[in-house]
Amino acid sequence: MEINLVSDTVTKPTPEMLEFMFKADVGDDVYKQDPTVNALQRMVANIFGMEDALFFPSGTMANQAAIKLHTQPGEQLIADKYAHVFNYEGGGVSFNSGVSCNLLDGDRGMINSQQVESAINPPDFYHSPLTSLVCVENTTNKGGGACYDIAELQKIRQVCDKHNLKFHLDGARIWNALVAKRENPRLYGETFHTISVCLSKGLGAPIGSLLISDKETINKALRVRKILGGGMRQVGYMAAAGIYALQHHVGRLAEDHRRAKELAYILSQKNWVHKVEPVETNILIFTISPRINEAVFLDKLKQKNISISSMGQGKLRIVTHLDYREVMHSYVVETLQKLEL
Ligand SMILES: *Cc1c(COP(=O)(O)O)cnc(C)c1O
Repeated sequence: MEINLVSDTVTKPTPEMLEFMFKADVGDDVYKQDPTVNALQRMVANIFGMEDALFFPSGTMANQAAIKLHTQPGEQLIADKYAHVFNYEGGGVSFNSGVSCNLLDGDRGMINSQQVESAINPPDFYHSPLTSLVCVENTTNKGGGACYDIAELQKIRQVCDKHNLKFHLDGARIWNALVAKRENPRLYGETFHTISVCLSKGLGAPIGSLLISDKETINKALRVRKILGGGMRQVGYMAAAGIYALQHHVGRLAEDHRRAKELAYILSQKNWVHKVEPVETNILIFTISPRINEAVFLDKLKQKNISISSMGQGKLRIVTHLDYREVMHSYVVETLQKLEL
């Protein structure tokens, strides 16, 4: 039994999902003639109470398209220092949009409205880049699956409105936040100009993300997606996986969250663990004691068929997901409990 806790992207489609994909009605989506893609786009726009949505092959491309739509070359966006758009999108912010990032020192990947307000360059001071966009992540990836308070996001939106900025949500794991906080997705639809969501993380689809916004913005996004090479043909097979995932795999995220919390509790009891970050969703970040060699530790787990990832600087990461079942969880719990270093 191989147990892969490196990421929630390692899941494979379930037999039921594959069957649903197999039966999908498809067409050429570049001509907007794929009924399954159209259905998924309507479904996701409706969930957030927004006008329209556009299917993308990856979350990176959806974020990059949003940044392109909201900025002009030379301008600046505001984000947390851990932001995926800055750290893990290959420098696309500068490559695709010619934009710089003003990175804020937030709390576990989350920034607040005061920080945002003080990071805005005065528009009349033409020496500094013009601030035009604020990007936040919910849940945070590098921040350890932390969830924003919707009230704070609404305050950031007020700051954006006051200063004429656009507000983008990188919602790769928004489903986890919605389940953990029992929130209504429509509140997010009201708070952001654009939202990107992933189907290939906790929801277990093989690929797929969507960008959600008003009709005019999504119409412009269509051209940007084409430029980035993201126009796809009979992609309804993939959209079908997303529809299936939204219908069957959202509520169960609560199990991933429970298991991550249980693992966090066990780790917090071990003398070889230095620190365990708070767990709100399915990501668990911890630091092992400085007396223990990280590579040796990872290898020890590997010998017991458990893979987890290193984030550098002694930080390790466990991510629970759809393919991490209860039997595996019992085994990992027992293994960690017994582990002496
Ligand atoms: C995974 C992820 C993305 C998108 O990643 P892709 O692999 O391109 O789909 C974007 N933002 C965050 C926070 C993520 O975790």
